[in-house]
Amino acid sequence: MDITLVQETPFRFRIERQDPMRVPGVVFATRELLPQATGDKALEQVANVAALPGIVRASYAMPDVHWGYGFPIGGVAATDIDAGGVISPGGVGFDISCGVRLLAAGIDRDPLAPRMRRLMDILGDTVPRGLGPGGLWKLSGRRQLEELMVAGAAYAVEHGRGVPRDLERCEDGGTLAGADPSQVGQRAVDRGLRQVGSLGSANHFLEVQAVDRVYDDRTAAAFGLHPGQVCVMIHCGSRGLGHQVCSDHVKVMDQSLRAYGIQLPDRQLACAPAVSVPGRDYLGAMAAAANYARANRQLLTEAARHAFAVAAGAELDLVYDVSHNMAKIETHDVDGVPLQLCVHRKGATRALPPGHRELPDDLAEAGQPILVPGTMGTASYVMAGTAGNDAFWSSAHGAGRVWSRHQALRRVRGEELCEQLESHGVAVRPASWRALAEEAPDAYKDVDAVAAATEAGQLARLVARLVPLGVVKG
Ligand code: 5GP
Ligand code: MN
Ligand code: MN
Repeated sequence: MDITLVQETPFRFRIERQDPMRVPGVVFATRELLPQATGDKALEQVANVAALPGIVRASYAMPDVHWGYGFPIGGVAATDIDAGGVISPGGVGFDISCGVRLLAAGIDRDPLAPRMRRLMDILGDTVPRGLGPGGLWKLSGRRQLEELMVAGAAYAVEHGRGVPRDLERCEDGGTLAGADPSQVGQRAVDRGLRQVGSLGSANHFLEVQAVDRVYDDRTAAAFGLHPGQVCVMIHCGSRGLGHQVCSDHVKVMDQSLRAYGIQLPDRQLACAPAVSVPGRDYLGAMAAAANYARANRQLLTEAARHAFAVAAGAELDLVYDVSHNMAKIETHDVDGVPLQLCVHRKGATRALPPGHRELPDDLAEAGQPILVPGTMGTASYVMAGTAGNDAFWSSAHGAGRVWSRHQALRRVRGEELCEQLESHGVAVRPASWRALAEEAPDAYKDVDAVAAATEAGQLARLVARLVPLGVVKG
């Protein structure tokens, strides 16, 4: 497909509808942030997604959009369930319910400074990371894992890994309903059993940060944040379990395309009607993997709490936990009609506006906290949901890559990068030099520009800017 891009505002472009697109594409970005600027084919993927059966309104791209499997990363698409709308595993991603949680520490950066090395050493020694097995929680077997996949973060808290308030600050209360562990294959279970409570590979991290700037005092206060305060940001997902679930169900859907008469511009968009047997099976498995990811972040939170208690005598309160690789069944008004939609957010976070009924009472006025990691050498942002968002309450999930991992490895040496970061005051505890190099700050878009475009496109509002003090890298 040749892409015709029309600039609607300095922060919003439209991809004109053409066959086989059913709806237009909408790209929230400045000209500089557009992926083609770097030879990335993500906009073609936005157009391909617009061909999915049942898609409504538009195929959206967030300012951090870049190339992904089938869907672009930073892609949002909603399908009308009652009109044959499909669910596509590629619209969720391999790392099901990968997401970010932010913890606010009861200590500021100056008093923490003399204890920082000790804190980072404890975190470095206790946070499992890198590829392969090794997690904080040894499960007894499939039975116990199934209970965890049904209840998610709530299962961890029930077993003493956290406090009830944590769950109030998790999307869905920490438990995504509808999990069906029987749809999680044995191979996925085998991979997942040994990885509960682990970061995983390079893009995943546990970072100690400080609030560098507050844009909106009232909302920052509602989120429990003030200038100079230390925070912990945790980014991880469902490890090998989610990956295997995605692979297994993509295969099934690929084989069922004919049966449902679905034609696609790209086979990586393999999908099935959300109400079909393969559609329901995947949604049940996806919810199970999502709960695994939420429990995973809960366990890593406990490791961070332990380290802060020992090294700094400080507590950590959960600000919010939100996924950025998910499909959810939600009701939205489309042309004035409330429809049941399957909303895919792949490398995009949910962004509920003030007053939304799914927000906890103490966040209702502020809107949902939106967590936008940048890189280990630049800023990260906290934003809040706004009523002006017309992308099914979705927003950017990070800076977004510009270099592939391969390109980054050719250009960056891990040891040098580590020295550079340390000389800029960022303590680094890497899993490997290679993984560190893949995640070099230069491999990503300018997160300050992404955050500004996110606000200008009315996807979310700026609340606080965070800077890194130390990173435990996957
Ligand atoms: P993804 O889930 O797409 O792999 O990553 C989400 C975002 O995390 C990336 O777009 C990138 O901006 C951000 N990111 C990756 N590594 C780090 C890190 O070490 N620290 C911070 N603060 N952000 C990171
Ligand atoms: Mn991930
Ligand atoms: Mn992620």
